[in-house]
Amino acid sequence: MTTTQPTPPPTATTTAGIPIESDDHSLTVGPDGPILLQDHYLIEQMAQWNRERTPERQPHAKGSGAFGSFAVTNDVSAFTKAAVFQPETTTAMLARFSTVAGERGSPDTWRDPRGFALKFYTSEGNYDMVGNDVPVFFIRDPLKFQHFIRSQKRRMDNNLRDHDMQWDFWTLSPESAHMVTWLMGDRGIPKTWRHMNGYSSHTYMWVNADGEKFWVKYHFISGQGVEFLTQAEADHLAGADGDYHTRDLYYAIERGEFPFWTLKVQIMPFGDASTYRFNPFDLTKVWPHADYPLIEVGTMTLDRNPADNHAEIEQAAFEPSNLVPGIGPSPDKMLLGRLFSYPDAHRARIGTNYNQLPVNQPVAPVRSYNTAGNMRYQNASDPVYYPNSKGGPQADPRYAETAGWYTSGELVHAAYTLHAEDDDWGQARTMYRKVLDDAARQRLVDNIVGHLLDGVTEPVLERAFEYWSNVDPDLGDRVEKGVREGQS
Ligand code: NDP
Repeated sequence: MTTTQPTPPPTATTTAGIPIESDDHSLTVGPDGPILLQDHYLIEQMAQWNRERTPERQPHAKGSGAFGSFAVTNDVSAFTKAAVFQPETTTAMLARFSTVAGERGSPDTWRDPRGFALKFYTSEGNYDMVGNDVPVFFIRDPLKFQHFIRSQKRRMDNNLRDHDMQWDFWTLSPESAHMVTWLMGDRGIPKTWRHMNGYSSHTYMWVNADGEKFWVKYHFISGQGVEFLTQAEADHLAGADGDYHTRDLYYAIERGEFPFWTLKVQIMPFGDASTYRFNPFDLTKVWPHADYPLIEVGTMTLDRNPADNHAEIEQAAFEPSNLVPGIGPSPDKMLLGRLFSYPDAHRARIGTNYNQLPVNQPVAPVRSYNTAGNMRYQNASDPVYYPNSKGGPQADPRYAETAGWYTSGELVHAAYTLHAEDDDWGQARTMYRKVLDDAARQRLVDNIVGHLLDGVTEPVLERAFEYWSNVDPDLGDRVEKGVREGQS
Protein backbone atom coordinates (compact mmCIF):
# COMPACT_ATOMS: atom_id res chain seq x y z
CA MET A 1 0.00 0.00 0.00
CA THR A 2 1.35 3.40 -0.93
CA THR A 3 0.89 6.34 1.39
CA THR A 4 0.65 9.82 -0.09
CA GLN A 5 2.70 12.44 1.68
CA PRO A 6 0.81 15.67 2.50
CA THR A 7 1.92 18.52 0.23
CA PRO A 8 4.17 20.81 2.27
CA PRO A 9 2.83 24.37 2.64
CA PRO A 10 4.32 26.93 0.27
CA THR A 11 7.35 28.92 1.39
CA ALA A 12 6.52 32.29 2.95
CA THR A 13 8.16 35.34 1.37
CA THR A 14 8.64 39.05 1.85
CA THR A 15 6.28 41.24 -0.17
CA ALA A 16 9.05 41.34 -2.77
CA GLY A 17 8.77 37.55 -3.13
CA ILE A 18 12.04 36.71 -1.37
CA PRO A 19 11.84 33.42 0.59
CA ILE A 20 12.24 33.87 4.35
CA GLU A 21 14.08 31.64 6.78
CA SER A 22 12.04 31.99 9.99
CA ASP A 23 8.54 33.05 10.98
CA ASP A 24 9.28 32.55 14.67
CA HIS A 25 12.59 34.20 15.45
CA SER A 26 14.02 37.60 14.60
CA LEU A 27 17.63 37.85 13.47
CA THR A 28 19.80 38.33 16.56
CA VAL A 29 23.49 38.28 17.50
CA GLY A 30 23.43 34.85 19.08
CA PRO A 31 20.22 33.47 20.63
CA ASP A 32 20.27 36.06 23.45
CA GLY A 33 21.76 39.00 21.57
CA PRO A 34 20.21 42.21 20.19
CA ILE A 35 17.95 42.31 17.12
CA LEU A 36 19.62 43.44 13.90
CA LEU A 37 18.45 46.20 11.58
CA GLN A 38 19.26 44.04 8.57
CA ASP A 39 16.38 41.70 9.46
CA HIS A 40 14.38 43.13 6.57
CA TYR A 41 11.50 40.71 7.06
CA LEU A 42 10.98 41.80 10.69
CA ILE A 43 11.18 45.49 9.75
CA GLU A 44 8.75 44.93 6.88
CA GLN A 45 6.27 43.17 9.20
CA MET A 46 6.33 46.03 11.72
CA ALA A 47 6.30 48.85 9.18
CA GLN A 48 3.53 47.29 7.10
CA TRP A 49 1.45 46.75 10.25
CA ASN A 50 1.74 50.43 11.17
CA ARG A 51 0.26 51.30 7.79
CA GLU A 52 -2.39 48.59 7.62
CA ARG A 53 -5.44 50.83 7.97
CA THR A 54 -6.67 53.22 5.36
CA PRO A 55 -8.43 56.14 7.03
CA GLU A 56 -12.01 55.09 7.64
CA ARG A 57 -14.76 56.71 5.66
CA GLN A 58 -15.91 59.96 7.33
CA PRO A 59 -19.61 59.01 7.35
CA HIS A 60 -20.58 55.40 6.50
CA ALA A 61 -17.43 53.95 8.13
CA LYS A 62 -19.03 50.71 9.36
CA GLY A 63 -20.29 48.44 6.64
CA SER A 64 -19.81 45.46 4.42
CA GLY A 65 -21.05 44.21 1.11
CA ALA A 66 -21.15 41.59 -1.60
CA PHE A 67 -20.98 41.08 -5.33
CA GLY A 68 -23.79 40.02 -7.63
CA SER A 69 -25.60 40.98 -10.78
CA PHE A 70 -28.42 43.15 -12.04
CA ALA A 71 -30.76 41.62 -14.63
CA VAL A 72 -33.25 43.74 -16.57
CA THR A 73 -36.78 42.27 -16.51
CA ASN A 74 -38.82 45.06 -18.12
CA ASP A 75 -38.28 47.24 -21.17
CA VAL A 76 -37.60 50.82 -20.03
CA SER A 77 -35.71 51.82 -23.19
CA ALA A 78 -38.41 54.43 -23.86
CA PHE A 79 -36.97 56.34 -20.88
CA THR A 80 -33.21 55.65 -20.99
CA LYS A 81 -30.62 54.44 -23.44
CA ALA A 82 -28.24 53.42 -20.60
CA ALA A 83 -26.77 50.05 -21.55
CA VAL A 84 -27.26 48.70 -18.03
CA PHE A 85 -31.05 49.13 -18.29
CA GLN A 86 -31.59 47.76 -21.83
CA PRO A 87 -33.75 44.63 -22.28
CA GLU A 88 -32.08 41.27 -21.64
CA THR A 89 -28.98 42.89 -20.16
CA THR A 90 -27.28 41.45 -17.09
CA THR A 91 -24.53 43.48 -15.43
CA ALA A 92 -22.03 42.50 -12.73
CA MET A 93 -22.25 44.68 -9.65
CA LEU A 94 -21.12 45.35 -6.10
CA ALA A 95 -23.25 46.50 -3.14
CA ARG A 96 -22.08 47.97 0.16
CA PHE A 97 -24.39 48.55 3.14
CA SER A 98 -23.43 50.65 6.14
CA THR A 99 -24.47 52.75 9.08
CA VAL A 100 -23.72 56.47 8.86
CA ALA A 101 -22.52 58.01 12.11
CA GLY A 102 -20.61 55.20 13.85
CA GLU A 103 -16.93 54.39 13.46
CA ARG A 104 -15.60 51.23 11.80
CA GLY A 105 -16.02 49.12 14.93
CA SER A 106 -19.40 50.51 15.97
CA PRO A 107 -22.46 48.25 16.35
CA ASP A 108 -24.48 47.51 13.23
CA THR A 109 -27.75 47.93 15.13
CA TRP A 110 -27.52 51.56 16.23
CA ARG A 111 -30.49 53.67 15.13
CA ASP A 112 -29.22 55.30 11.96
CA PRO A 113 -29.97 55.44 8.24
CA ARG A 114 -28.24 52.68 6.26
CA GLY A 115 -26.11 53.35 3.21
CA PHE A 116 -27.13 51.42 0.09
CA ALA A 117 -24.22 51.95 -2.32
CA LEU A 118 -24.16 50.16 -5.67
CA LYS A 119 -21.55 49.91 -8.39
CA PHE A 120 -22.62 48.51 -11.77
CA TYR A 121 -19.71 47.44 -14.00
CA THR A 122 -21.50 48.41 -17.24
CA SER A 123 -20.24 48.12 -20.80
CA GLU A 124 -20.16 51.94 -20.93
CA GLY A 125 -18.17 52.47 -17.75
CA ASN A 126 -18.96 52.20 -14.05
CA TYR A 127 -22.37 53.41 -12.96
CA ASP A 128 -22.69 54.07 -9.21
CA MET A 129 -25.94 54.62 -7.31
CA VAL A 130 -25.02 55.80 -3.83
CA GLY A 131 -28.32 55.70 -1.95
CA ASN A 132 -29.76 54.97 1.48
CA ASP A 133 -32.51 52.78 2.95
CA VAL A 134 -34.56 55.98 3.21
CA PRO A 135 -36.05 57.88 0.24
CA VAL A 136 -35.31 61.32 1.75
CA PHE A 137 -32.53 63.12 3.65
CA PHE A 138 -32.09 65.46 6.62
CA ILE A 139 -31.04 68.54 4.65
CA ARG A 140 -31.37 69.91 1.15
CA ASP A 141 -28.20 71.98 0.72
CA PRO A 142 -24.67 70.48 0.76
CA LEU A 143 -23.36 73.51 2.67
CA LYS A 144 -24.98 72.01 5.78
CA PHE A 145 -23.72 68.46 5.27
CA GLN A 146 -20.47 68.67 7.23
CA HIS A 147 -22.29 70.39 10.09
CA PHE A 148 -25.01 67.77 10.09
CA ILE A 149 -22.59 64.81 10.20
CA ARG A 150 -20.52 66.44 12.97
CA SER A 151 -23.70 66.81 15.03
CA GLN A 152 -24.27 63.05 14.74
CA LYS A 153 -20.70 62.05 15.61
CA ARG A 154 -18.76 62.96 18.76
CA ARG A 155 -18.28 66.05 20.89
CA MET A 156 -14.84 67.62 21.08
CA ASP A 157 -14.61 67.72 24.88
CA ASN A 158 -15.63 64.24 26.04
CA ASN A 159 -15.51 62.33 22.74
CA LEU A 160 -19.07 61.12 23.33
CA ARG A 161 -22.02 61.05 20.98
CA ASP A 162 -24.59 63.46 22.28
CA HIS A 163 -28.35 63.48 21.69
CA ASP A 164 -28.50 67.12 22.78
CA MET A 165 -26.22 68.02 19.87
CA GLN A 166 -28.25 65.90 17.46
CA TRP A 167 -31.59 67.45 18.44
CA ASP A 168 -30.06 70.93 18.54
CA PHE A 169 -29.19 70.55 14.85
CA TRP A 170 -32.47 68.86 13.87
CA THR A 171 -34.76 71.32 15.63
CA LEU A 172 -32.87 74.26 14.09
CA SER A 173 -33.16 72.57 10.68
CA PRO A 174 -36.90 71.98 10.17
CA GLU A 175 -36.27 70.44 6.75
CA SER A 176 -35.02 67.39 8.69
CA ALA A 177 -38.53 66.53 10.01
CA HIS A 178 -39.49 64.00 7.34
CA MET A 179 -36.22 62.09 7.66
CA VAL A 180 -36.20 62.17 11.49
CA THR A 181 -39.75 60.81 11.52
CA TRP A 182 -38.49 57.92 9.41
CA LEU A 183 -35.38 57.48 11.54
CA MET A 184 -37.32 57.36 14.81
CA GLY A 185 -39.88 54.98 13.31
CA ASP A 186 -39.58 51.25 12.77
CA ARG A 187 -37.39 51.56 9.70
CA GLY A 188 -34.73 53.40 11.73
CA ILE A 189 -33.28 49.99 12.65
CA PRO A 190 -33.67 47.35 9.92
CA LYS A 191 -33.75 43.71 10.98
CA THR A 192 -30.91 42.98 8.57
CA TRP A 193 -29.50 44.64 5.48
CA ARG A 194 -31.40 42.01 3.51
CA HIS A 195 -34.67 43.26 4.98
CA MET A 196 -34.50 46.88 3.91
CA ASN A 197 -35.27 48.74 0.71
CA GLY A 198 -32.76 50.98 -1.02
CA TYR A 199 -33.63 54.33 -2.57
CA SER A 200 -31.73 56.70 -4.83
CA SER A 201 -33.36 59.43 -2.73
CA HIS A 202 -32.00 61.90 -5.28
CA THR A 203 -33.76 62.63 -8.51
CA TYR A 204 -31.68 61.81 -11.58
CA MET A 205 -32.20 62.41 -15.27
CA TRP A 206 -32.75 59.67 -17.81
CA VAL A 207 -32.25 60.28 -21.54
CA ASN A 208 -33.55 57.90 -24.23
CA ALA A 209 -32.05 57.11 -27.63
CA ASP A 210 -34.07 59.96 -29.21
CA GLY A 211 -32.65 62.47 -26.73
CA GLU A 212 -35.91 62.77 -24.73
CA LYS A 213 -35.36 63.56 -21.07
CA PHE A 214 -37.13 62.35 -17.94
CA TRP A 215 -36.66 62.79 -14.20
CA VAL A 216 -36.31 59.53 -12.27
CA LYS A 217 -36.19 58.18 -8.70
CA TYR A 218 -35.03 54.63 -7.90
CA HIS A 219 -36.59 52.21 -5.41
CA PHE A 220 -34.86 48.87 -4.73
CA ILE A 221 -37.61 46.85 -3.04
CA SER A 222 -36.35 44.05 -0.81
CA GLY A 223 -37.25 40.55 -1.99
CA GLN A 224 -36.95 39.42 1.62
CA GLY A 225 -39.61 41.89 2.79
CA VAL A 226 -39.08 44.93 5.01
CA GLU A 227 -38.56 43.98 8.67
CA PHE A 228 -37.18 45.86 11.63
CA LEU A 229 -35.71 45.46 15.10
CA THR A 230 -37.33 47.04 18.14
CA GLN A 231 -35.17 49.41 20.16
CA ALA A 232 -34.84 46.75 22.87
CA GLU A 233 -33.74 44.07 20.41
CA ALA A 234 -31.25 46.45 18.80
CA ASP A 235 -29.83 47.53 22.15
CA HIS A 236 -29.29 43.91 23.14
CA LEU A 237 -27.61 43.06 19.83
CA ALA A 238 -25.36 46.13 20.00
CA GLY A 239 -23.70 44.46 22.97
CA ALA A 240 -24.15 40.79 22.13
CA ASP A 241 -23.10 40.96 18.46
CA GLY A 242 -22.02 44.35 17.16
CA ASP A 243 -21.47 42.84 13.70
CA TYR A 244 -24.95 41.35 13.49
CA HIS A 245 -25.83 42.77 10.06
CA THR A 246 -22.40 42.06 8.60
CA ARG A 247 -22.60 38.45 9.82
CA ASP A 248 -26.17 38.01 8.55
CA LEU A 249 -25.33 39.05 5.00
CA TYR A 250 -22.13 37.04 4.81
CA TYR A 251 -23.60 33.78 6.07
CA ALA A 252 -26.85 34.13 4.11
CA ILE A 253 -24.73 34.22 0.95
CA GLU A 254 -22.53 31.36 2.22
CA ARG A 255 -25.70 29.28 2.71
CA GLY A 256 -26.79 30.04 -0.84
CA GLU A 257 -29.68 32.25 0.29
CA PHE A 258 -28.94 35.00 -2.17
CA PRO A 259 -30.74 38.23 -1.26
CA PHE A 260 -32.45 40.12 -4.06
CA TRP A 261 -34.11 43.45 -4.65
CA THR A 262 -36.49 44.54 -7.43
CA LEU A 263 -35.59 47.88 -8.95
CA LYS A 264 -38.61 50.04 -9.62
CA VAL A 265 -38.50 53.63 -10.81
CA GLN A 266 -40.74 56.64 -10.71
CA ILE A 267 -40.62 58.59 -13.95
CA MET A 268 -41.57 62.26 -14.15
CA PRO A 269 -41.88 63.84 -17.63
CA PHE A 270 -39.21 66.52 -18.02
CA GLY A 271 -41.72 69.38 -18.32
CA ASP A 272 -43.59 68.49 -15.10
CA ALA A 273 -40.76 69.65 -12.84
CA SER A 274 -41.35 73.38 -13.06
CA THR A 275 -45.11 73.14 -12.48
CA TYR A 276 -45.25 70.25 -9.98
CA ARG A 277 -46.91 71.18 -6.69
CA PHE A 278 -43.61 70.96 -4.81
CA ASN A 279 -39.98 71.10 -5.86
CA PRO A 280 -39.24 67.61 -7.21
CA PHE A 281 -35.49 68.06 -6.63
CA ASP A 282 -35.84 68.75 -2.91
CA LEU A 283 -34.12 65.79 -1.22
CA THR A 284 -36.35 66.03 1.86
CA LYS A 285 -39.39 64.94 -0.18
CA VAL A 286 -40.69 61.82 -1.92
CA TRP A 287 -42.84 61.83 -5.01
CA PRO A 288 -46.18 60.32 -3.94
CA HIS A 289 -46.77 56.98 -5.65
CA ALA A 290 -50.24 58.14 -6.75
CA ASP A 291 -48.62 60.90 -8.84
CA TYR A 292 -45.76 58.82 -10.24
CA PRO A 293 -46.36 55.06 -9.91
CA LEU A 294 -43.55 52.55 -9.68
CA ILE A 295 -42.36 50.95 -12.92
CA GLU A 296 -40.37 47.72 -12.72
CA VAL A 297 -36.89 47.64 -14.26
CA GLY A 298 -35.04 44.55 -13.05
CA THR A 299 -33.63 42.44 -10.25
CA MET A 300 -30.41 42.82 -8.29
CA THR A 301 -29.12 39.62 -6.67
CA LEU A 302 -26.10 39.31 -4.39
CA ASP A 303 -24.42 35.90 -4.62
CA ARG A 304 -20.69 36.29 -3.89
CA ASN A 305 -18.94 37.36 -0.74
CA PRO A 306 -15.72 39.34 -0.90
CA ALA A 307 -12.57 37.24 -0.56
CA ASP A 308 -10.63 40.12 1.00
CA ASN A 309 -12.84 42.61 2.82
CA HIS A 310 -10.18 45.31 2.87
CA ALA A 311 -9.32 45.11 -0.83
CA GLU A 312 -12.86 44.68 -2.10
CA ILE A 313 -15.10 46.55 0.38
CA GLU A 314 -12.97 48.92 2.45
CA GLN A 315 -11.25 50.19 -0.68
CA ALA A 316 -14.38 50.17 -2.82
CA ALA A 317 -14.99 53.71 -4.02
CA PHE A 318 -18.60 54.59 -4.82
CA GLU A 319 -19.27 57.98 -6.37
CA PRO A 320 -22.53 59.49 -7.61
CA SER A 321 -20.45 61.24 -10.27
CA ASN A 322 -20.09 57.90 -12.09
CA LEU A 323 -22.99 58.54 -14.46
CA VAL A 324 -23.09 56.70 -17.79
CA PRO A 325 -24.63 57.75 -21.13
CA GLY A 326 -28.42 57.85 -20.69
CA ILE A 327 -28.21 58.85 -17.00
CA GLY A 328 -27.38 62.27 -15.61
CA PRO A 329 -27.75 64.50 -12.57
CA SER A 330 -30.66 66.78 -11.71
CA PRO A 331 -30.79 70.22 -10.08
CA ASP A 332 -30.90 68.49 -6.64
CA LYS A 333 -28.32 70.63 -4.77
CA MET A 334 -27.31 67.78 -2.47
CA LEU A 335 -26.60 65.56 -5.46
CA LEU A 336 -24.57 68.27 -7.17
CA GLY A 337 -22.47 68.66 -4.00
CA ARG A 338 -21.90 64.91 -3.78
CA LEU A 339 -20.66 64.79 -7.38
CA PHE A 340 -17.57 66.58 -6.08
CA SER A 341 -17.26 65.33 -2.52
CA TYR A 342 -17.24 61.57 -3.15
CA PRO A 343 -14.36 61.32 -5.63
CA ASP A 344 -12.51 63.89 -3.55
CA ALA A 345 -12.96 61.70 -0.46
CA HIS A 346 -11.57 58.71 -2.37
CA ARG A 347 -8.52 60.63 -3.54
CA ALA A 348 -7.87 61.66 0.07
CA ARG A 349 -8.72 58.32 1.74
CA ILE A 350 -7.50 55.70 -0.74
CA GLY A 351 -5.20 57.60 -3.09
CA THR A 352 -5.04 59.33 -6.43
CA ASN A 353 -5.30 56.16 -8.49
CA TYR A 354 -8.13 54.50 -6.55
CA ASN A 355 -9.89 53.64 -9.80
CA GLN A 356 -7.03 51.29 -10.71
CA LEU A 357 -7.76 48.99 -7.76
CA PRO A 358 -9.42 45.84 -9.11
CA VAL A 359 -12.71 46.45 -7.25
CA ASN A 360 -13.03 49.92 -8.77
CA GLN A 361 -11.80 49.10 -12.26
CA PRO A 362 -14.42 49.34 -14.98
CA VAL A 363 -14.85 46.46 -17.43
CA ALA A 364 -15.15 49.14 -20.10
CA PRO A 365 -11.83 50.28 -21.55
CA VAL A 366 -10.20 53.33 -19.90
CA ARG A 367 -8.60 55.81 -22.29
CA SER A 368 -7.71 58.73 -20.07
CA TYR A 369 -4.94 61.33 -20.24
CA ASN A 370 -4.37 61.01 -16.48
CA THR A 371 -0.89 59.57 -16.20
CA ALA A 372 0.77 59.68 -12.83
CA GLY A 373 0.16 60.00 -9.09
CA ASN A 374 1.22 57.67 -6.30
CA MET A 375 0.36 53.95 -6.41
CA ARG A 376 -0.36 54.03 -10.12
CA TYR A 377 0.35 50.59 -11.56
CA GLN A 378 -1.37 50.43 -14.93
CA ASN A 379 0.86 51.72 -17.68
CA ALA A 380 -0.05 55.02 -19.27
CA SER A 381 1.13 55.67 -22.80
CA ASP A 382 2.13 58.54 -25.01
CA PRO A 383 0.85 60.96 -26.10
CA VAL A 384 0.16 62.44 -22.63
CA TYR A 385 -1.53 65.57 -23.95
CA TYR A 386 -4.46 66.64 -26.10
CA PRO A 387 -4.72 67.88 -28.83
CA ASN A 388 -2.15 65.70 -30.51
CA SER A 389 -1.43 64.35 -33.96
CA LYS A 390 -0.21 61.02 -32.58
CA GLY A 391 -3.46 59.07 -32.58
CA GLY A 392 -4.40 59.70 -28.93
CA PRO A 393 -8.04 59.25 -27.81
CA GLN A 394 -10.56 61.98 -28.60
CA ALA A 395 -13.89 63.03 -27.12
CA ASP A 396 -16.96 61.98 -29.13
CA PRO A 397 -19.58 64.71 -29.76
CA ARG A 398 -22.29 62.02 -29.92
CA TYR A 399 -22.25 62.00 -26.12
CA ALA A 400 -23.08 65.73 -26.03
CA GLU A 401 -26.82 65.54 -25.34
CA THR A 402 -26.42 63.60 -22.10
CA ALA A 403 -28.51 65.01 -19.35
CA GLY A 404 -28.55 68.77 -19.47
CA TRP A 405 -31.14 71.41 -18.74
CA TYR A 406 -31.50 75.12 -19.36
CA THR A 407 -30.78 77.43 -16.45
CA SER A 408 -30.14 81.12 -15.86
CA GLY A 409 -30.27 83.57 -12.97
CA GLU A 410 -28.37 85.87 -10.64
CA LEU A 411 -25.62 84.36 -8.49
CA VAL A 412 -27.27 84.07 -5.07
CA HIS A 413 -27.09 82.22 -1.76
CA ALA A 414 -30.79 81.36 -1.49
CA ALA A 415 -33.30 78.58 -0.86
CA TYR A 416 -35.03 76.86 -3.76
CA THR A 417 -37.68 78.98 -5.46
CA LEU A 418 -40.94 78.06 -3.76
CA HIS A 419 -43.51 75.78 -5.37
CA ALA A 420 -47.12 75.87 -4.16
CA GLU A 421 -46.85 73.01 -1.64
CA ASP A 422 -43.25 73.34 -0.47
CA ASP A 423 -43.01 73.01 3.29
CA ASP A 424 -40.98 71.10 5.86
CA TRP A 425 -43.73 69.22 7.70
CA GLY A 426 -46.35 67.96 5.26
CA GLN A 427 -44.82 64.65 4.17
CA ALA A 428 -43.77 63.77 7.72
CA ARG A 429 -47.38 64.45 8.73
CA THR A 430 -48.66 62.16 5.96
CA MET A 431 -46.39 59.40 7.18
CA TYR A 432 -47.55 59.82 10.78
CA ARG A 433 -51.26 60.04 9.96
CA LYS A 434 -51.68 57.81 6.91
CA VAL A 435 -48.77 55.35 6.60
CA LEU A 436 -48.23 54.24 10.20
CA ASP A 437 -50.81 52.21 12.08
CA ASP A 438 -51.59 52.75 15.78
CA ALA A 439 -48.91 50.34 16.99
CA ALA A 440 -46.23 51.90 14.73
CA ARG A 441 -47.30 55.39 15.89
CA GLN A 442 -46.86 54.28 19.51
CA ARG A 443 -43.39 52.86 18.79
CA LEU A 444 -42.48 56.14 17.05
CA VAL A 445 -43.55 58.12 20.15
CA ASP A 446 -41.67 55.73 22.46
CA ASN A 447 -38.50 55.91 20.36
CA ILE A 448 -38.56 59.71 20.25
CA VAL A 449 -39.24 59.98 24.00
CA GLY A 450 -36.44 57.51 24.82
CA HIS A 451 -34.02 59.41 22.60
CA LEU A 452 -34.95 62.79 24.10
CA LEU A 453 -34.69 61.53 27.67
CA ASP A 454 -31.11 60.47 26.95
CA GLY A 455 -29.32 63.77 27.58
CA VAL A 456 -31.38 66.40 25.73
CA THR A 457 -31.56 69.65 27.72
CA GLU A 458 -33.47 72.95 27.57
CA PRO A 459 -33.95 74.91 25.36
CA VAL A 460 -33.46 72.10 22.83
CA LEU A 461 -36.11 69.99 24.51
CA GLU A 462 -38.78 72.68 24.23
CA ARG A 463 -37.89 73.12 20.56
CA ALA A 464 -38.24 69.35 20.07
CA PHE A 465 -41.84 69.45 21.37
CA GLU A 466 -42.59 72.29 18.97
CA TYR A 467 -40.91 70.39 16.11
CA TRP A 468 -43.15 67.34 16.60
CA SER A 469 -46.23 69.54 17.09
CA ASN A 470 -45.49 71.05 13.69
CA VAL A 471 -45.49 67.53 12.23
CA ASP A 472 -48.76 66.76 14.04
CA PRO A 473 -50.20 68.36 17.21
CA ASP A 474 -51.16 64.92 18.55
CA LEU A 475 -47.59 63.69 18.08
CA GLY A 476 -46.20 66.80 19.79
CA ASP A 477 -48.52 66.31 22.78
CA ARG A 478 -47.66 62.63 23.14
CA VAL A 479 -43.92 63.29 22.94
CA GLU A 480 -44.09 66.11 25.53
CA LYS A 481 -46.25 64.03 27.87
CA GLY A 482 -43.90 61.04 27.57
CA VAL A 483 -40.81 63.13 28.28
CA ARG A 484 -42.38 64.97 31.24
CA GLU A 485 -43.49 61.67 32.75
CA GLY A 486 -40.04 60.18 32.15
CA GLN A 487 -38.41 63.15 33.90
CA SER A 488 -40.58 62.93 37.01
P1 NDP B 1 -48.28 55.44 -0.47
O1 NDP B 1 -49.35 54.99 0.45
O2 NDP B 1 -48.41 55.14 -1.92
O3 NDP B 1 -46.87 54.92 -0.02
C1 NDP B 1 -46.52 54.82 1.32
C2 NDP B 1 -45.19 54.10 1.37
O4 NDP B 1 -44.66 54.20 2.67
C3 NDP B 1 -45.25 52.59 1.16
O5 NDP B 1 -45.32 52.27 -0.19
C4 NDP B 1 -43.96 52.15 1.79
O6 NDP B 1 -42.90 52.37 0.87
C5 NDP B 1 -43.74 53.16 2.87
N1 NDP B 1 -43.92 52.66 4.23
C6 NDP B 1 -44.76 51.73 4.68
N2 NDP B 1 -44.59 51.56 6.00
C7 NDP B 1 -43.63 52.40 6.38
C8 NDP B 1 -42.99 52.68 7.62
N3 NDP B 1 -43.36 52.07 8.73
N4 NDP B 1 -42.04 53.61 7.65
C9 NDP B 1 -41.69 54.25 6.53
N5 NDP B 1 -42.24 54.02 5.32
C10 NDP B 1 -43.20 53.11 5.27
O7 NDP B 1 -48.20 57.00 -0.21
P2 NDP B 1 -47.31 58.16 -0.83
O8 NDP B 1 -46.48 57.72 -1.97
O9 NDP B 1 -48.24 59.29 -1.03
O10 NDP B 1 -46.36 58.49 0.39
C11 NDP B 1 -46.93 58.81 1.65
C12 NDP B 1 -45.81 58.88 2.64
O11 NDP B 1 -45.19 57.59 2.67
C13 NDP B 1 -44.70 59.86 2.26
O12 NDP B 1 -44.95 61.15 2.76
C14 NDP B 1 -43.51 59.23 2.87
O13 NDP B 1 -43.38 59.66 4.21
C15 NDP B 1 -43.82 57.73 2.87
N6 NDP B 1 -43.09 57.02 1.79
C16 NDP B 1 -43.28 57.34 0.48
C17 NDP B 1 -42.50 56.78 -0.49
C18 NDP B 1 -42.61 57.25 -1.89
O14 NDP B 1 -41.61 57.12 -2.61
N7 NDP B 1 -43.73 57.76 -2.32
C19 NDP B 1 -41.50 55.75 -0.18
C20 NDP B 1 -41.46 55.40 1.21
C21 NDP B 1 -42.21 56.06 2.15
P3 NDP B 1 -42.07 51.21 0.19
O15 NDP B 1 -43.04 50.51 -0.69
O16 NDP B 1 -41.00 51.93 -0.55
O17 NDP B 1 -41.58 50.35 1.29
